[in-house]
Amino acid sequence: MQNPTQYAPCPKCGQTNAKKVGYTWWGGALGPRMFTHVKCQSCGTQYNGKSGQSNQQNIIIYTVVSFAIAFCLCGGLAVVGVLLQNQ
Ligand SMILES: [Zn+2]
Repeated sequence: MQNPTQYAPCPKCGQTNAKKVGYTWWGGALGPRMFTHVKCQSCGTQYNGKSGQSNQQNIIIYTVVSFAIAFCLCGGLAVVGVLLQNQ
């Protein structure tokens, strides 16, 4: 590991000048860190800097999981509210 900031080459143009993405609409600040989400400085493609593959699948899973967690939390609160009302 001579250069720890070196990421896998861009899947589209093959350049290795990718930079880490700090914040995304789908994962906030945590998502891109979890998936080593980087952006190619040449063509703007965003991908997984570790595997050199598209992060599309990870993004979908991340979005679905966060949605499910939020849904469960809301659903749980609703259930608690109903239970409290019934007593
Ligand atoms: Zn590129």
